Amino acid sequence: MQEYVGDCIKCGRNIYCHDGFIGAVVTEPGKMVCFECMERQNEENKKDIKSDNQKLFIGKQKKDT
Ligand SMILES: [Zn+2]
Repeated sequence: MQEYVGDCIKCGRNIYCHDGFIGAVVTEPGKMVCFECMERQNEENKKDIKSDNQKLFIGKQKKDT
C-alpha cells in the first residue's frame, strides 16, 4: 500500500510511504528530500567542505604574511 506523504523540497517529486517506509529523508518536520536529491546534496557538501578548507587555508596564509 502506498500513501502520499509530501513532496521533495529539492525536485518536487511526490514522495510515498510504502508499508511504513518513507521513500525520502525527513530533514525537518514537514520537509523531506528524496534519496536521489539527498545523494546529490551529499556530493555537493563534500565539494563545499573541500572549497571551504581551501578558502580557510588561503585566508590563513594571507594572515601570516
Ligand atoms: Zn528530489
